[in-house]
Amino acid sequence: MKNISKSERNKLKGHKGLAVWLTGLSGAGKSTIAVELEQQLFAKNIHTYTLDGDILRTGLNKDLSFTEEARKENIRRTGEVAKLFVDSGTVVIAAFISPFANDRKIVRELLGEEFVEVFVNCPLEVCEQRDVKGLYKKARKGELKNFTGIDSPYEKPENPELTLNTDLQDLQECVQQILEFVLPKIELK
Ligand code: ADP
Repeated sequence: MKNISKSERNKLKGHKGLAVWLTGLSGAGKSTIAVELEQQLFAKNIHTYTLDGDILRTGLNKDLSFTEEARKENIRRTGEVAKLFVDSGTVVIAAFISPFANDRKIVRELLGEEFVEVFVNCPLEVCEQRDVKGLYKKARKGELKNFTGIDSPYEKPENPELTLNTDLQDLQECVQQILEFVLPKIELK
């Protein structure tokens, strides 16, 4: 009896697995980019899956709050799940605020070469103006505690593989920038 190896899985899928980790403020564009990126990869016959912070917090991570400890655990669990997807040969896209540099570093160390950190950069003022989910308004009124950018810090990535400026670049440009980096990386040699 022999376990199926990673290279056998990759061969079956026709590409390697990878974790594309989108980090940034709420409203910066992580979910929007994740959806469009997955569509474009899928159209190229690439096996994909998206892990979205908001969705995981209604299931696997629904017991977790937004304290520093809980955020750390949120990211730790997500990193472990992402690793399983990568092992399966999938390109997994993770859209998480993941505000703490050390938590992202732990995921990077867990995934090694198969981790791509994408800083979805957008000034707080623009995110707040967008206020897609009405959360900034709530946080400003004090109805939401520990909200990133308001009363909880966001530690910008120092050396991300990619930085997108969603206040200056449109969605298609952002996705194109990710594809140019990701496609050669998942290619089977
Ligand atoms: P997040 O997942 O980071 O909280 P969302 O994707 O939910 O953010 O919301 C981002 C908002 O910004 C959406 O309304 C989206 O249409 C808008 N937006 C404007 N420009 C961009 C861009 N270049 N990339 C992604 N979203 C953008």
